[in-house]
Amino acid sequence: MTDRYDVIIVGSGAGGGTLAHTLAPSGRKILLLERGNFLPREMANWDPGAVFVDGKYISPDTWYDPDGKPFQPQVHYFVGGATKMYGAALYRLRPADFGDIAYSDGLSPAWPVSYADLEPFYTKAEWLYQVHGNHGEDPTEGPASKQYPWPPVSHEPRVQHIADNLAGAGYYPFHSPCGIMLDEDHRPASTCIRCAWCDGYPCLVHAKADAETVAVRPLLNLPNVTLLVDAEVTGLRTDPSGRTVTEVAVSRAGQAETYRADIVVLAAGAANTAKILLRSASEQHPRGLANGSDQVGRNYMFHNSKAVAALAKEPNDTVYQKTLGVNDFYLADPRTGRTPLGNIQMLGKSNAMAMKGEEPALTKLAPRMALEEVAAHSVDFWLTTEDLPQPENRITVDSAGRTHLSYSFTNAKETEGLYEELKTLLNKIGMAAHHVWAKNFYMNMAVPIAGVAHQAGTCRFGSDPSSSVADVNCKAHELDNLYLADASIFPSIGAVNPALTVMANAIRVGDHLAQRLA
Ligand SMILES: Cc1cc2nc3c(=O)[nH]c(=O)nc-3n(C[C@H](O)[C@H](O)[C@H](O)COP(=O)(O)OP(=O)(O)OC[C@H]3O[C@@H](n4cnc5c(N)ncnc54)[C@H](O)[C@@H]3O)c2cc1C
Repeated sequence: MTDRYDVIIVGSGAGGGTLAHTLAPSGRKILLLERGNFLPREMANWDPGAVFVDGKYISPDTWYDPDGKPFQPQVHYFVGGATKMYGAALYRLRPADFGDIAYSDGLSPAWPVSYADLEPFYTKAEWLYQVHGNHGEDPTEGPASKQYPWPPVSHEPRVQHIADNLAGAGYYPFHSPCGIMLDEDHRPASTCIRCAWCDGYPCLVHAKADAETVAVRPLLNLPNVTLLVDAEVTGLRTDPSGRTVTEVAVSRAGQAETYRADIVVLAAGAANTAKILLRSASEQHPRGLANGSDQVGRNYMFHNSKAVAALAKEPNDTVYQKTLGVNDFYLADPRTGRTPLGNIQMLGKSNAMAMKGEEPALTKLAPRMALEEVAAHSVDFWLTTEDLPQPENRITVDSAGRTHLSYSFTNAKETEGLYEELKTLLNKIGMAAHHVWAKNFYMNMAVPIAGVAHQAGTCRFGSDPSSSVADVNCKAHELDNLYLADASIFPSIGAVNPALTVMANAIRVGDHLAQRLA
Protein backbone atom coordinates (compact mmCIF):
# COMPACT_ATOMS: atom_id res chain seq x y z
CA MET A 1 0.00 0.00 0.00
CA THR A 2 1.31 3.45 -0.85
CA ASP A 3 -0.23 6.66 0.30
CA ARG A 4 0.93 10.24 0.70
CA TYR A 5 0.62 12.50 3.75
CA ASP A 6 1.85 15.91 4.82
CA VAL A 7 3.44 14.50 7.97
CA ILE A 8 4.19 10.96 9.10
CA ILE A 9 4.85 10.55 12.83
CA VAL A 10 6.44 7.29 13.95
CA GLY A 11 5.39 6.33 17.50
CA SER A 12 2.37 7.54 19.50
CA GLY A 13 3.93 7.98 22.95
CA ALA A 14 4.89 11.07 24.94
CA GLY A 15 6.68 12.60 21.95
CA GLY A 16 4.73 11.30 18.93
CA GLY A 17 1.27 11.48 20.51
CA THR A 18 1.84 15.01 21.78
CA LEU A 19 3.23 16.11 18.43
CA ALA A 20 0.20 14.69 16.58
CA HIS A 21 -2.08 16.54 19.01
CA THR A 22 -0.18 19.79 18.40
CA LEU A 23 -0.23 19.49 14.61
CA ALA A 24 -3.79 18.19 14.16
CA PRO A 25 -5.52 21.62 14.29
CA SER A 26 -3.40 22.74 11.32
CA GLY A 27 -5.61 20.56 9.13
CA ARG A 28 -2.55 18.91 7.60
CA LYS A 29 -2.87 15.27 6.59
CA ILE A 30 -1.15 13.35 9.37
CA LEU A 31 -0.33 9.64 9.59
CA LEU A 32 0.55 8.25 13.00
CA LEU A 33 2.31 4.89 12.77
CA GLU A 34 2.37 2.82 15.97
CA ARG A 35 3.95 -0.62 16.24
CA GLY A 36 1.68 -1.61 19.15
CA ASN A 37 -2.07 -1.64 19.60
CA PHE A 38 -4.43 -0.13 22.17
CA LEU A 39 -3.70 -1.44 25.64
CA PRO A 40 -6.76 -3.50 26.60
CA ARG A 41 -8.92 -2.17 29.44
CA GLU A 42 -9.40 -5.16 31.72
CA MET A 43 -9.33 -5.97 35.42
CA ALA A 44 -5.72 -7.16 35.05
CA ASN A 45 -4.74 -3.48 34.58
CA TRP A 46 -5.00 -3.12 38.35
CA ASP A 47 -3.77 -6.56 39.35
CA PRO A 48 -0.25 -6.35 40.86
CA GLY A 49 0.23 -10.06 40.14
CA ALA A 50 -0.50 -9.61 36.42
CA VAL A 51 1.47 -6.37 36.20
CA PHE A 52 4.50 -7.02 38.40
CA VAL A 53 4.81 -10.81 38.62
CA ASP A 54 3.64 -11.83 35.12
CA GLY A 55 4.81 -8.64 33.38
CA LYS A 56 1.59 -8.76 31.34
CA TYR A 57 2.11 -5.34 29.74
CA ILE A 58 5.78 -5.71 28.90
CA SER A 59 5.87 -6.03 25.12
CA PRO A 60 7.78 -8.96 23.66
CA ASP A 61 11.11 -7.84 22.25
CA THR A 62 14.65 -9.16 22.55
CA TRP A 63 17.73 -7.04 22.90
CA TYR A 64 21.31 -8.20 23.51
CA ASP A 65 23.80 -7.12 26.18
CA PRO A 66 27.50 -6.48 25.45
CA ASP A 67 28.26 -10.20 25.95
CA GLY A 68 25.69 -11.06 23.31
CA LYS A 69 23.26 -12.40 25.92
CA PRO A 70 19.59 -11.84 25.03
CA PHE A 71 17.31 -10.05 27.48
CA GLN A 72 13.74 -8.81 27.56
CA PRO A 73 13.79 -5.00 27.82
CA GLN A 74 11.04 -3.40 29.87
CA VAL A 75 9.30 -1.82 26.88
CA HIS A 76 5.64 -0.99 26.37
CA TYR A 77 4.61 -0.90 22.72
CA PHE A 78 1.09 0.50 22.86
CA VAL A 79 -0.82 3.52 21.62
CA GLY A 80 0.54 6.00 24.19
CA GLY A 81 3.88 4.20 24.48
CA ALA A 82 5.57 4.05 27.88
CA THR A 83 3.15 6.65 29.25
CA LYS A 84 0.49 3.90 29.47
CA MET A 85 2.50 2.55 32.41
CA TYR A 86 4.10 5.70 33.72
CA GLY A 87 3.59 7.24 37.13
CA ALA A 88 2.64 10.61 35.56
CA ALA A 89 5.07 12.50 37.81
CA LEU A 90 5.42 15.40 35.39
CA TYR A 91 8.44 17.50 36.36
CA ARG A 92 10.17 20.30 34.47
CA LEU A 93 13.95 20.14 34.24
CA ARG A 94 15.50 22.84 36.45
CA PRO A 95 17.09 25.86 34.68
CA ALA A 96 20.56 24.62 35.72
CA ASP A 97 19.96 21.37 33.81
CA PHE A 98 20.09 23.29 30.54
CA GLY A 99 23.70 24.37 31.22
CA ASP A 100 26.89 22.38 31.81
CA ILE A 101 26.98 20.64 35.20
CA ALA A 102 30.15 19.15 36.66
CA TYR A 103 29.85 15.75 38.35
CA SER A 104 32.51 13.52 39.86
CA ASP A 105 32.49 11.33 36.72
CA GLY A 106 32.44 14.19 34.20
CA LEU A 107 30.28 16.80 32.59
CA SER A 108 26.55 16.82 31.99
CA PRO A 109 26.49 18.86 28.78
CA ALA A 110 24.34 21.91 28.10
CA TRP A 111 21.26 21.84 25.89
CA PRO A 112 21.19 23.97 22.73
CA VAL A 113 18.07 25.67 24.11
CA SER A 114 17.63 27.31 27.51
CA TYR A 115 14.99 26.85 30.18
CA ALA A 116 13.48 30.16 29.06
CA ASP A 117 13.19 28.84 25.48
CA LEU A 118 11.32 25.74 26.63
CA GLU A 119 9.24 27.41 29.35
CA PRO A 120 6.19 28.34 27.21
CA PHE A 121 6.04 24.75 25.96
CA TYR A 122 6.33 23.34 29.48
CA THR A 123 3.28 25.42 30.36
CA LYS A 124 1.36 24.12 27.33
CA ALA A 125 2.34 20.54 28.20
CA GLU A 126 1.23 20.98 31.82
CA TRP A 127 -2.16 22.21 30.67
CA LEU A 128 -2.56 19.46 28.07
CA TYR A 129 -1.57 16.75 30.57
CA GLN A 130 -3.73 18.23 33.36
CA VAL A 131 -0.88 18.51 35.81
CA HIS A 132 -1.73 19.14 39.47
CA GLY A 133 0.88 21.03 41.43
CA ASN A 134 1.92 24.34 42.89
CA HIS A 135 4.60 26.34 41.10
CA GLY A 136 6.63 28.27 43.63
CA GLU A 137 6.83 25.66 46.40
CA ASP A 138 10.07 24.04 45.27
CA PRO A 139 12.97 26.48 45.58
CA THR A 140 14.94 24.74 42.80
CA GLU A 141 12.34 25.19 40.05
CA GLY A 142 12.54 27.85 37.35
CA PRO A 143 10.00 30.60 36.78
CA ALA A 144 6.64 29.51 35.35
CA SER A 145 4.61 31.84 33.13
CA LYS A 146 1.36 30.24 34.30
CA GLN A 147 0.28 28.27 37.36
CA TYR A 148 -0.60 24.57 36.92
CA PRO A 149 -4.16 24.00 35.67
CA TRP A 150 -5.06 22.15 38.88
CA PRO A 151 -4.12 22.63 42.54
CA PRO A 152 -1.75 20.03 43.95
CA VAL A 153 -3.12 16.62 44.85
CA SER A 154 -3.60 16.76 48.59
CA HIS A 155 -1.35 14.70 50.84
CA GLU A 156 -3.04 11.87 52.70
CA PRO A 157 -2.54 12.08 56.50
CA ARG A 158 0.62 9.93 56.70
CA VAL A 159 2.29 11.84 53.86
CA GLN A 160 1.15 15.18 55.33
CA HIS A 161 2.76 14.13 58.61
CA ILE A 162 6.03 13.37 56.79
CA ALA A 163 5.83 16.70 54.93
CA ASP A 164 5.26 18.59 58.21
CA ASN A 165 8.15 16.79 59.89
CA LEU A 166 10.44 17.50 56.95
CA ALA A 167 9.57 21.20 57.00
CA GLY A 168 10.11 21.20 60.77
CA ALA A 169 13.55 19.68 60.25
CA GLY A 170 14.49 22.49 57.83
CA TYR A 171 13.88 20.74 54.48
CA TYR A 172 11.74 22.13 51.63
CA PRO A 173 9.17 19.43 50.76
CA PHE A 174 6.80 20.28 47.92
CA HIS A 175 3.76 18.78 46.25
CA SER A 176 4.90 16.54 43.40
CA PRO A 177 3.43 17.48 40.01
CA CYS A 178 0.97 14.72 39.03
CA GLY A 179 -0.77 14.25 35.66
CA ILE A 180 -4.03 12.66 36.74
CA MET A 181 -7.63 13.60 35.99
CA LEU A 182 -8.63 14.13 39.58
CA ASP A 183 -10.89 16.88 40.78
CA GLU A 184 -10.83 16.88 44.56
CA ASP A 185 -14.00 19.00 44.63
CA HIS A 186 -15.66 16.01 42.93
CA ARG A 187 -17.13 17.95 40.08
CA PRO A 188 -18.44 15.70 37.29
CA ALA A 189 -15.24 16.12 35.25
CA SER A 190 -13.35 13.93 37.71
CA THR A 191 -12.66 10.43 36.45
CA CYS A 192 -9.83 9.54 38.85
CA ILE A 193 -10.91 7.51 41.84
CA ARG A 194 -7.59 8.13 43.62
CA CYS A 195 -6.47 4.52 43.69
CA ALA A 196 -3.10 2.91 44.38
CA TRP A 197 -2.78 1.65 40.77
CA CYS A 198 -1.13 4.54 39.04
CA ASP A 199 2.62 4.17 39.09
CA GLY A 200 3.66 1.26 36.89
CA TYR A 201 0.06 0.22 36.07
CA PRO A 202 -2.20 1.12 33.14
CA CYS A 203 -5.27 3.12 34.24
CA LEU A 204 -8.43 1.04 33.83
CA VAL A 205 -10.70 4.10 34.03
CA HIS A 206 -8.50 6.23 31.74
CA ALA A 207 -8.00 8.84 34.45
CA LYS A 208 -4.24 9.01 34.11
CA ALA A 209 -3.18 11.75 31.72
CA ASP A 210 -1.16 9.57 29.37
CA ALA A 211 -0.42 10.13 25.70
CA GLU A 212 -3.23 7.86 24.55
CA THR A 213 -6.05 9.34 26.64
CA VAL A 214 -5.00 12.98 26.46
CA ALA A 215 -3.26 13.36 23.12
CA VAL A 216 -4.19 10.56 20.67
CA ARG A 217 -7.80 9.58 21.51
CA PRO A 218 -9.18 13.08 20.91
CA LEU A 219 -7.80 12.89 17.34
CA LEU A 220 -9.35 9.59 16.34
CA ASN A 221 -12.40 11.04 14.62
CA LEU A 222 -10.62 13.87 12.85
CA PRO A 223 -10.67 13.58 9.06
CA ASN A 224 -7.05 14.71 8.71
CA VAL A 225 -5.49 12.26 11.19
CA THR A 226 -4.99 8.55 10.54
CA LEU A 227 -3.66 6.19 13.19
CA LEU A 228 -2.38 2.82 12.06
CA VAL A 229 -1.66 0.30 14.80
CA ASP A 230 0.43 -2.89 14.50
CA ALA A 231 2.49 -0.78 12.10
CA GLU A 232 6.19 -1.14 12.84
CA VAL A 233 8.47 1.18 10.89
CA THR A 234 11.41 -0.85 9.66
CA GLY A 235 13.35 1.74 7.70
CA LEU A 236 13.41 5.03 5.84
CA ARG A 237 14.47 5.49 2.23
CA THR A 238 15.79 8.67 0.64
CA ASP A 239 16.00 10.23 -2.80
CA PRO A 240 19.29 9.80 -4.73
CA SER A 241 20.73 12.96 -3.17
CA GLY A 242 20.27 11.42 0.27
CA ARG A 243 18.78 14.72 1.54
CA THR A 244 15.07 13.85 1.52
CA VAL A 245 13.22 10.95 3.07
CA THR A 246 10.89 9.71 0.36
CA GLU A 247 9.51 6.48 1.79
CA VAL A 248 8.69 5.01 5.16
CA ALA A 249 8.86 1.22 5.13
CA VAL A 250 6.37 -0.43 7.47
CA SER A 251 5.59 -3.95 8.54
CA ARG A 252 1.86 -3.84 9.30
CA ALA A 253 0.56 -7.02 10.85
CA GLY A 254 3.37 -8.81 9.02
CA GLN A 255 2.73 -7.21 5.60
CA ALA A 256 5.31 -4.89 4.02
CA GLU A 257 3.86 -1.47 3.18
CA THR A 258 5.26 1.89 2.14
CA TYR A 259 4.05 5.38 3.04
CA ARG A 260 5.17 8.80 1.86
CA ALA A 261 5.04 12.27 3.37
CA ASP A 262 6.57 15.70 2.94
CA ILE A 263 7.85 15.50 6.49
CA VAL A 264 8.76 12.45 8.57
CA VAL A 265 9.14 12.60 12.34
CA LEU A 266 10.65 9.79 14.41
CA ALA A 267 9.29 9.46 17.94
CA ALA A 268 9.74 5.75 18.53
CA GLY A 269 11.53 6.17 21.87
CA ALA A 270 15.29 6.63 22.30
CA ALA A 271 16.33 3.07 21.46
CA ASN A 272 13.95 2.45 18.57
CA THR A 273 14.45 5.83 16.94
CA ALA A 274 18.18 5.09 16.83
CA LYS A 275 17.44 1.59 15.58
CA ILE A 276 15.32 2.87 12.69
CA LEU A 277 18.06 5.29 11.63
CA LEU A 278 20.80 2.67 11.91
CA ARG A 279 18.73 0.18 9.92
CA SER A 280 18.23 2.78 7.18
CA ALA A 281 21.86 2.75 6.05
CA SER A 282 22.25 3.30 2.32
CA GLU A 283 24.90 4.22 -0.22
CA GLN A 284 24.44 7.91 0.67
CA HIS A 285 24.35 7.20 4.41
CA PRO A 286 26.61 4.18 4.91
CA ARG A 287 26.71 4.43 8.73
CA GLY A 288 22.96 4.83 9.01
CA LEU A 289 20.62 7.67 8.14
CA ALA A 290 21.57 11.07 9.62
CA ASN A 291 24.67 9.45 11.07
CA GLY A 292 27.59 11.20 9.36
CA SER A 293 28.65 12.31 12.86
CA ASP A 294 28.60 8.70 14.13
CA GLN A 295 26.43 9.92 17.03
CA VAL A 296 23.28 7.90 16.28
CA GLY A 297 22.78 5.36 19.06
CA ARG A 298 25.44 6.88 21.32
CA ASN A 299 25.05 8.69 24.65
CA TYR A 300 22.21 6.46 25.81
CA MET A 301 21.07 7.43 29.32
CA PHE A 302 18.44 6.11 31.70
CA HIS A 303 18.98 7.66 35.17
CA ASN A 304 20.53 6.18 38.27
CA SER A 305 17.37 5.41 40.15
CA LYS A 306 16.71 3.61 43.38
CA ALA A 307 13.39 2.61 44.86
CA VAL A 308 13.64 2.63 48.64
CA ALA A 309 11.19 1.29 51.18
CA ALA A 310 11.43 2.71 54.69
CA LEU A 311 9.78 0.57 57.32
CA ALA A 312 8.17 2.59 60.07
CA LYS A 313 6.49 1.61 63.34
CA GLU A 314 3.36 3.54 62.35
CA PRO A 315 1.12 1.89 59.79
CA ASN A 316 0.94 3.62 56.43
CA ASP A 317 -2.58 3.39 55.00
CA THR A 318 -1.91 5.91 52.22
CA VAL A 319 -3.62 5.02 48.95
CA TYR A 320 -2.14 7.56 46.50
CA GLN A 321 1.34 8.12 47.86
CA LYS A 322 3.01 10.05 45.03
CA THR A 323 2.22 13.53 46.29
CA LEU A 324 5.52 14.56 47.93
CA GLY A 325 8.91 15.58 46.55
CA VAL A 326 12.17 16.91 48.01
CA ASN A 327 14.78 18.69 45.89
CA ASP A 328 17.07 19.92 48.68
CA PHE A 329 19.97 17.97 47.16
CA TYR A 330 19.16 18.64 43.50
CA LEU A 331 21.58 21.51 42.90
CA ALA A 332 25.30 21.77 43.61
CA ASP A 333 26.11 23.21 47.02
CA PRO A 334 28.66 25.99 46.49
CA ARG A 335 29.34 26.22 50.26
CA THR A 336 30.68 22.67 50.47
CA GLY A 337 31.62 22.08 46.83
CA ARG A 338 29.15 19.18 46.76
CA THR A 339 28.01 18.14 43.28
CA PRO A 340 24.27 17.80 42.55
CA LEU A 341 22.81 14.57 43.96
CA GLY A 342 19.30 14.46 42.55
CA ASN A 343 15.61 14.26 43.29
CA ILE A 344 13.67 12.42 45.99
CA GLN A 345 9.99 11.71 45.45
CA MET A 346 7.46 9.30 46.81
CA LEU A 347 6.48 6.21 44.87
CA GLY A 348 3.22 4.37 44.37
CA LYS A 349 2.44 2.44 47.57
CA SER A 350 4.07 -1.01 47.98
CA ASN A 351 1.88 -4.05 48.24
CA ALA A 352 2.66 -7.69 48.97
CA MET A 353 2.11 -8.93 45.42
CA ALA A 354 4.20 -6.20 43.80
CA MET A 355 7.01 -7.04 46.25
CA LYS A 356 6.96 -10.60 44.94
CA GLY A 357 7.39 -9.31 41.42
CA GLU A 358 10.12 -6.85 42.41
CA GLU A 359 12.10 -9.26 44.59
CA PRO A 360 11.24 -12.81 43.50
CA ALA A 361 14.31 -14.43 45.11
CA LEU A 362 14.05 -12.55 48.39
CA THR A 363 10.32 -13.06 48.83
CA LYS A 364 10.02 -16.60 47.48
CA LEU A 365 9.63 -18.22 50.88
CA ALA A 366 8.00 -15.29 52.68
CA PRO A 367 4.41 -15.97 53.69
CA ARG A 368 1.93 -13.58 52.09
CA MET A 369 0.80 -12.32 55.51
CA ALA A 370 4.33 -11.32 56.47
CA LEU A 371 4.72 -9.38 53.23
CA GLU A 372 1.37 -7.72 53.79
CA GLU A 373 2.52 -6.62 57.23
CA VAL A 374 5.74 -5.17 55.77
CA ALA A 375 3.80 -3.40 53.01
CA ALA A 376 1.34 -1.99 55.53
CA HIS A 377 4.17 -0.17 57.32
CA SER A 378 6.44 0.78 54.47
CA VAL A 379 6.82 4.29 53.12
CA ASP A 380 8.18 4.24 49.58
CA PHE A 381 10.62 6.64 47.99
CA TRP A 382 12.13 7.00 44.55
CA LEU A 383 15.60 8.50 44.24
CA THR A 384 16.95 9.77 40.95
CA THR A 385 20.47 10.86 40.13
CA GLU A 386 21.51 12.08 36.71
CA ASP A 387 23.59 9.66 34.64
CA LEU A 388 25.99 11.08 32.08
CA PRO A 389 25.96 10.72 28.30
CA GLN A 390 28.88 8.48 27.36
CA PRO A 391 29.75 7.69 23.73
CA GLU A 392 30.19 4.00 24.55
CA ASN A 393 26.77 3.74 26.23
CA ARG A 394 24.98 2.99 23.05
CA ILE A 395 22.44 1.20 20.92
CA THR A 396 23.82 -0.68 17.94
CA VAL A 397 22.11 -2.88 15.37
CA ASP A 398 23.76 -5.97 13.93
CA SER A 399 23.51 -7.26 10.37
CA ALA A 400 20.49 -9.36 11.34
CA GLY A 401 18.69 -6.20 12.53
CA ARG A 402 18.97 -7.11 16.23
CA THR A 403 19.26 -4.41 18.91
CA HIS A 404 22.33 -4.39 21.18
CA LEU A 405 22.65 -2.18 24.24
CA SER A 406 25.88 -1.34 26.07
CA TYR A 407 25.67 0.65 29.25
CA SER A 408 27.91 1.40 32.24
CA PHE A 409 26.72 3.45 35.16
CA THR A 410 28.16 6.85 35.96
CA ASN A 411 27.84 9.04 39.03
CA ALA A 412 27.90 6.21 41.58
CA LYS A 413 29.24 8.67 44.14
CA GLU A 414 26.26 11.00 43.69
CA THR A 415 23.80 8.07 43.74
CA GLU A 416 25.23 6.86 47.04
CA GLY A 417 25.31 10.43 48.35
CA LEU A 418 21.59 10.84 47.70
CA TYR A 419 20.80 7.55 49.46
CA GLU A 420 22.83 8.70 52.48
CA GLU A 421 20.98 12.03 52.51
CA LEU A 422 17.66 10.16 52.45
CA LYS A 423 18.73 8.06 55.43
CA THR A 424 19.83 11.18 57.35
CA LEU A 425 16.54 12.86 56.50
CA LEU A 426 14.55 9.85 57.69
CA ASN A 427 16.51 9.74 60.93
CA LYS A 428 15.81 13.41 61.50
CA ILE A 429 12.08 12.86 61.19
CA GLY A 430 12.07 9.81 63.42
CA MET A 431 11.96 7.05 60.81
CA ALA A 432 14.88 4.77 61.77
CA ALA A 433 17.33 4.57 58.89
CA HIS A 434 18.39 1.00 59.61
CA HIS A 435 14.91 -0.08 58.57
CA VAL A 436 15.47 1.14 55.05
CA TRP A 437 16.20 -1.00 52.06
CA ALA A 438 16.63 -0.39 48.37
CA LYS A 439 14.32 -2.51 46.25
CA ASN A 440 13.70 -3.26 42.63
CA PHE A 441 10.78 -1.45 41.10
CA TYR A 442 9.93 -0.69 37.53
CA MET A 443 13.57 -0.08 36.63
CA ASN A 444 14.01 -3.85 36.94
CA MET A 445 17.30 -3.63 38.82
CA ALA A 446 17.69 -7.42 38.64
CA VAL A 447 18.86 -7.00 35.03
CA PRO A 448 19.97 -3.39 35.25
CA ILE A 449 20.11 -2.59 31.56
CA ALA A 450 16.66 -4.12 31.00
CA GLY A 451 15.10 -1.31 33.00
CA VAL A 452 14.72 1.06 30.07
CA ALA A 453 11.78 3.08 31.43
CA HIS A 454 13.64 6.42 31.34
CA GLN A 455 15.67 5.75 28.18
CA ALA A 456 16.96 8.96 26.58
CA GLY A 457 19.79 10.26 24.42
CA THR A 458 20.97 8.31 21.30
CA CYS A 459 20.28 11.15 18.82
CA ARG A 460 21.09 14.34 20.67
CA PHE A 461 20.26 17.72 19.25
CA GLY A 462 22.78 20.54 19.07
CA SER A 463 24.18 23.25 16.89
CA ASP A 464 27.31 21.36 15.81
CA PRO A 465 26.63 18.71 13.13
CA SER A 466 29.89 16.94 13.98
CA SER A 467 28.75 16.14 17.55
CA SER A 468 24.96 15.95 17.26
CA VAL A 469 22.32 14.29 15.09
CA ALA A 470 19.65 17.00 14.92
CA ASP A 471 19.69 20.78 14.92
CA VAL A 472 18.02 23.10 17.37
CA ASN A 473 14.60 22.52 15.75
CA CYS A 474 15.20 18.77 16.03
CA LYS A 475 15.60 18.43 12.24
CA ALA A 476 18.30 15.91 11.30
CA HIS A 477 21.34 17.93 10.22
CA GLU A 478 21.85 15.83 7.11
CA LEU A 479 18.28 15.71 5.86
CA ASP A 480 15.79 18.36 4.83
CA ASN A 481 12.56 16.70 5.96
CA LEU A 482 13.42 14.37 8.84
CA TYR A 483 12.71 15.38 12.46
CA LEU A 484 13.03 13.73 15.86
CA ALA A 485 10.51 14.36 18.65
CA ASP A 486 11.07 11.91 21.49
CA ALA A 487 13.52 11.35 24.35
CA SER A 488 16.28 10.51 21.85
CA ILE A 489 17.14 14.20 21.45
CA PHE A 490 18.18 14.73 25.10
CA PRO A 491 21.83 15.93 25.27
CA SER A 492 21.67 15.28 29.04
CA ILE A 493 18.85 13.91 31.17
CA GLY A 494 18.79 15.89 34.43
CA ALA A 495 17.59 14.13 37.56
CA VAL A 496 13.82 14.48 37.28
CA ASN A 497 11.41 12.25 35.36
CA PRO A 498 11.75 12.91 31.64
CA ALA A 499 8.24 12.74 30.15
CA LEU A 500 7.13 16.37 30.58
CA THR A 501 10.31 17.53 28.83
CA VAL A 502 9.61 15.10 25.96
CA MET A 503 6.05 16.45 25.70
CA ALA A 504 7.09 20.12 25.91
CA ASN A 505 9.75 19.64 23.25
CA ALA A 506 7.28 17.79 21.01
CA ILE A 507 4.94 20.81 21.24
CA ARG A 508 7.89 23.04 20.35
CA VAL A 509 8.71 20.87 17.32
CA GLY A 510 5.01 20.86 16.41
CA ASP A 511 4.86 24.65 16.44
CA HIS A 512 7.94 24.78 14.24
CA LEU A 513 6.47 22.26 11.78
CA ALA A 514 3.13 24.07 11.64
CA GLN A 515 4.99 27.23 10.67
CA ARG A 516 7.15 25.41 8.13
CA LEU A 517 4.11 23.80 6.52
CA ALA A 518 2.23 27.08 6.45
C1 LIG B 1 6.76 2.04 34.40
C2 LIG B 1 7.17 3.41 33.94
C3 LIG B 1 6.98 4.49 34.78
C4 LIG B 1 7.36 5.78 34.37
N1 LIG B 1 7.05 6.85 35.16
C5 LIG B 1 7.32 8.09 34.74
C6 LIG B 1 6.89 9.22 35.48
O1 LIG B 1 6.24 9.12 36.52
N2 LIG B 1 7.21 10.46 35.00
C7 LIG B 1 7.91 10.63 33.83
O2 LIG B 1 8.20 11.77 33.46
N3 LIG B 1 8.30 9.57 33.09
C8 LIG B 1 8.01 8.32 33.50
N4 LIG B 1 8.34 7.24 32.72
C9 LIG B 1 9.11 7.49 31.47
C10 LIG B 1 8.22 8.04 30.34
O3 LIG B 1 7.12 7.21 30.13
C11 LIG B 1 9.10 8.15 29.09
O4 LIG B 1 10.19 9.02 29.39
C12 LIG B 1 8.35 8.73 27.89
O5 LIG B 1 7.20 8.00 27.59
C13 LIG B 1 9.31 8.73 26.68
O6 LIG B 1 8.64 9.27 25.57
P1 LIG B 1 9.03 8.83 24.08
O7 LIG B 1 8.11 9.54 23.17
O8 LIG B 1 10.50 8.99 23.92
O9 LIG B 1 8.77 7.25 24.05
P2 LIG B 1 7.43 6.44 24.25
O10 LIG B 1 6.46 7.22 25.08
O11 LIG B 1 7.76 5.09 24.75
O12 LIG B 1 6.83 6.33 22.79
C14 LIG B 1 7.48 5.58 21.78
C15 LIG B 1 6.40 4.94 20.91
O13 LIG B 1 6.98 4.48 19.70
C16 LIG B 1 6.45 3.19 19.39
N5 LIG B 1 7.43 2.51 18.53
C17 LIG B 1 8.63 1.98 18.87
N6 LIG B 1 9.26 1.50 17.80
C18 LIG B 1 8.44 1.72 16.74
C19 LIG B 1 8.53 1.42 15.34
N7 LIG B 1 9.63 0.84 14.82
N8 LIG B 1 7.49 1.75 14.54
C20 LIG B 1 6.37 2.36 15.06
N9 LIG B 1 6.24 2.66 16.38
C21 LIG B 1 7.27 2.35 17.20
C22 LIG B 1 6.26 2.56 20.76
O14 LIG B 1 5.36 1.47 20.71
C23 LIG B 1 5.74 3.74 21.57
O15 LIG B 1 4.34 3.87 21.46
C24 LIG B 1 7.97 5.96 33.10
C25 LIG B 1 8.14 4.86 32.25
C26 LIG B 1 7.74 3.60 32.66
C27 LIG B 1 7.93 2.44 31.72
